[in-house]
Amino acid sequence: MINVENLRKSFGKLDVLKGISTEIRHQEVVVVIGPSGSGKSTFLRCLNGLEEATSGKIEIDGVELTNPKTNIHELRQHVGMCFQQFNLFRHLNILQNITIGPMKVLNKSKEESEQLARQLLKRVGLGDKEQNYPDELSGGQQQRVAIARALAMKPKVMLFDEPTSALDPEMVGEVLNVIGDLAEDGMTMVIVTHEMGFARKVGDRVIFMDEGYLIEEGPPAEIFNNPQEKRTQSFLAKVL
Ligand code: ADP
Ligand code: MG
Repeated sequence: MINVENLRKSFGKLDVLKGISTEIRHQEVVVVIGPSGSGKSTFLRCLNGLEEATSGKIEIDGVELTNPKTNIHELRQHVGMCFQQFNLFRHLNILQNITIGPMKVLNKSKEESEQLARQLLKRVGLGDKEQNYPDELSGGQQQRVAIARALAMKPKVMLFDEPTSALDPEMVGEVLNVIGDLAEDGMTMVIVTHEMGFARKVGDRVIFMDEGYLIEEGPPAEIFNNPQEKRTQSFLAKVL
């Protein structure tokens, strides 16, 4: 589904990604872990074209994102993204937050968009909140709306950048449960998280990044129980 070859990204003189290569298979759940500043967010942002790669190749479902001829806006519709900050539209109610993408970008009718939105709100456990405004919802509920909003675009892959880092601890579980359900439904996902228990449970593969390098990757059991690289070992010793 996603193919990354020797991806480099620099901001001026700062080399942030120093040659990342990996593949994400259809329906695979890949969890990205690593210290703050290691380039995890930049990596995700490159995957949906929010940042332009300095060099290297990114292919999404056979379309080369890094080819200047590719229509990035079109491609980005197929890549859903959820951030630490939910970024809902505060002046729109929950239903409108979800229908605006399908209506404005995909030119779907209001009826069809609302039907889909209601279905998605049920799926994230918020069927009764469609008329509320974001400020009337808890952080966990807002993040679940943000997930429903991304899903309304029928993405081929979902990217999550620390989706629970801004939440009070008691709300982390409800958001992780929704993401776990998506995994069971076969959604292809790349998830940056510090929730190691979740990574172990839901991840098919864990990628450990440090200082712009992909240091090590493998099944959660291998990475967490038997990391091969010194840097992975010392990071895990701090967070586990
Ligand atoms: P992580 O998500 O692992 O914490 P980031 O990808 O956010 O790491 O950042 C990696 C490095 O890139 C940091 O040193 C950060 O300051 C730098 N960086 C990220 N975005 C920009 C930007 N737009 N301009 C300049 N430097 C940036
Ligand atoms: Mg980050």
